[in-house]
Amino acid sequence: MIVLAQTKNPNPEDFPSEINGLRMTRQRREVLATLLAERDHPTANDVFLRAQKRMPTISLATVYNCLEALVSHNLVKQVNFDRDSSRYCPNLSDHCHFQDESSGKIHDIGFKDGVNLTDLLDLPEGTQINHLEISLKGTFGKS
Ligand SMILES: [Zn+2]
Repeated sequence: MIVLAQTKNPNPEDFPSEINGLRMTRQRREVLATLLAERDHPTANDVFLRAQKRMPTISLATVYNCLEALVSHNLVKQVNFDRDSSRYCPNLSDHCHFQDESSGKIHDIGFKDGVNLTDLLDLPEGTQINHLEISLKGTFGKS
């Protein structure tokens, strides 16, 4: 999976017929390829408009269904900021999302080498983290 996620501009035809137990229909391939091609955390509507360029028959409802299937099979992450529309991220490595408040852009922020979440958080011994979701907002980098 990680290999797939690192492929730039993948050809939807090159995806295996099944990934993580999810049968890769033509539409799911197209939606996944769209997310991998431009990693700017698009909304479902953005994905729809992009996917439509290569697959004119795809509908917004289908895009929603595909995104839901991809998220539930851990092929993409769903990102939520407040009440904004959900956004989608194909980066499967552990990372946080930082939203720049002036541009609205969402950046992927990885952990520094050697840093574990358990070093930062006061968790009881034996705790196991199964899902990571950290969202930050502010001014990104020097302005
Ligand atoms: Zn992300």
